[in-house]
Amino acid sequence: MSLERELTNLVPEGKDYWLVARESRKEFRDNLETSSFRIRGVEVHGNKTLVIAGPCAVHSREQTLEIAKIVKEAGADMLRGGAYKPRTSPYAFQGLGEEGLKILAEAREHTGLPIVTEVMDPRLVELIGQYADVLQIGARNMQNFPLLVEVGKYAAKHDKGVLLKTSLMPKLNEVLCAAEYLANEGAEKIMICERGISVTTGSTRNTPHPSFVRELRQATFLPILGDPSHSTGNRELVEHTSDMYLAARANGLLIDVVRDDEPEVIDGHKVCDYKQGLPAARFKGYMELLRRKG
Ligand code: PEP
Ligand code: MN
Repeated sequence: MSLERELTNLVPEGKDYWLVARESRKEFRDNLETSSFRIRGVEVHGNKTLVIAGPCAVHSREQTLEIAKIVKEAGADMLRGGAYKPRTSPYAFQGLGEEGLKILAEAREHTGLPIVTEVMDPRLVELIGQYADVLQIGARNMQNFPLLVEVGKYAAKHDKGVLLKTSLMPKLNEVLCAAEYLANEGAEKIMICERGISVTTGSTRNTPHPSFVRELRQATFLPILGDPSHSTGNRELVEHTSDMYLAARANGLLIDVVRDDEPEVIDGHKVCDYKQGLPAARFKGYMELLRRKG
């Protein structure tokens, strides 16, 4: 470890977080740059919009392989899909578990896209880590401290990425402390994703919070993404919300994608978050727009 890194790792007394703070690193102090790293060859850095896309949940092999191909061809950087799903109701589809992870691994073989998938249970970090390139920590677990510690340790040891989603009603300090738990275990490839706050005037599922993205960008050098799908719950608002996140200087987007002819039910289960999945043709169109904007 370099002397500078060692000095950085000395947390000044009284700070709740430091390792992830912009002010802790000389190179990030007077700018809005982010850390840069590679996930399975894919570069993550502040100067390019990172797009992570895929089905909310892995429902079947056919569905996942088709969506993986769609998002790859459209230019996405990583494939995201849930095999272990946090569902409000115990009666809702809970994910395919390890079978889902195997399907994701097969999709990676076909497309080369790194896999992002959620882990909810500290006991499953080892298993999920064998398949995932990036371990996602969901909104409801942002302050699950034992999970943060396990994921942080695993990511550090196996050089994995971590995608930390903001909680349902987060304070800036809480988000950065959660990221600090990961960094304190040695994880370096950490990304944070704003997924909307859980207040709403009635029509949307949550409320996107682009100004929070901006605040996070100023407070930390970690890359910050926005999730236009979970923050709105409505596919009609996904492109516009993505634009708002990018205007707030988000470093990337996490987008749910469905096939153009996606059935509402697959293998007897309602498709997870169907209403917020951007249909393939529109996803392609939006990616094209992003490319043209450079
Ligand atoms: C998800 O990303 O699939 C998810 C469940 O989102 P969140 O944790 O933000 O609710
Ligand atoms: Mn979802």
